[in-house]
Amino acid sequence: MITRDDIRELANFHSAEGCAITFYYQPSTPLNKSHRDQAILVKDLIRNALREAEKHGKNGRTRADLERINEIVGPANGNGGKAKAIFACSAKGFWREFDIPGQLLKPKVAISQRFHLKPLAAVLDGEQRAYILLADRTKARVFELVNDDIAEKEDFINELTRRGKSDGYSGYDAGHAERKAMNEALQHFKLVAENIEQYFERGGRDRLLIGCRDDVWSEIEPQLQSLARQRLVGHFRIDPKIATPEQVKQMARDHLSQYHAGVKQNLIHEAIGEAHRNGRGAIGLRRVLRSLEVGEVLTLLLGSNFQAAGVKCYHCGHMDLHVAPECAVCGKQNTELEDIGDAIVGHAIRTGVELIYVADDEEFDRIGRIAALLRFRADQNTAEKAAS
Ligand SMILES: [Zn+2]
Repeated sequence: MITRDDIRELANFHSAEGCAITFYYQPSTPLNKSHRDQAILVKDLIRNALREAEKHGKNGRTRADLERINEIVGPANGNGGKAKAIFACSAKGFWREFDIPGQLLKPKVAISQRFHLKPLAAVLDGEQRAYILLADRTKARVFELVNDDIAEKEDFINELTRRGKSDGYSGYDAGHAERKAMNEALQHFKLVAENIEQYFERGGRDRLLIGCRDDVWSEIEPQLQSLARQRLVGHFRIDPKIATPEQVKQMARDHLSQYHAGVKQNLIHEAIGEAHRNGRGAIGLRRVLRSLEVGEVLTLLLGSNFQAAGVKCYHCGHMDLHVAPECAVCGKQNTELEDIGDAIVGHAIRTGVELIYVADDEEFDRIGRIAALLRFRADQNTAEKAAS
């Protein structure tokens, strides 16, 4: 599984000779008829890349990399239906392979100074992680969700001492028994809330979801402490005693998807609103590129289907949507890019800009599938606001 550190390493990799190979491949299962077509298509891509490499006098190592990649693509390699990404530059002794969940990749072979990370960074943004608590008045179960995998944690099942029938002779002191049960439930929820808080204090970065019966939610909710409240996505209705991990996973994934979609919607509205009143927002490729170059961008919103031709100057780093042979800033030679999105993503990762991918969204399409929230506006001298 790819991590943020992996992505950062890839983004920082630079081959001045232009020998960095990016390879994306989506194998289908051998049973699938389209499988052979896929493999043939990819082999064609590789053959073209080999020809290009020779034409541009790339060294034998680049050819060796491409041939090694060619070996990996074959009918014998279904890769469990998972997509594959390979980043290679044997001139610098660099080779990284990643399996990627989901069905998102068009096959791609690119050879340039930087790796093309747009599809890969989207995987990371789409990651679903949650810490899930199921609770009733006597019991708590904890699950951890990472994408498609859910695991129940065995070390945190808290069942209070069972109240036997001998407790408070039936009818004789029913009020007392009831008060005792409520008290015990309260203690139980406090203990559970403490456990959750400790998990986040230890550095858990997941979202929090709570599954319980509706009437129990009003008892749990007030006990939650500050980190838990920050992490809380919401609660859902479930019977904690009989819920299966599969049911929990379904509920959690639905809630997380809704939550993330809501967060993204808010970010889009904020960026558009801020841009329209000349505040801390930028929309459209031209404006966002300028903001990226002056270091204004806090959060970059990029459409999953964004694509635009452009150029990049590898001498000074300038990116431009006007395709010109020479850099508008330093006058040195530009490199033409089929998709400037890859250069933008690389730049964002290297400079610590938060990257958010937006799937199909009409409003976002209308503004050019790219927008940003800014830390400050260089032209308004509002740098001091960055701290707020
Ligand atoms: Zn330049």
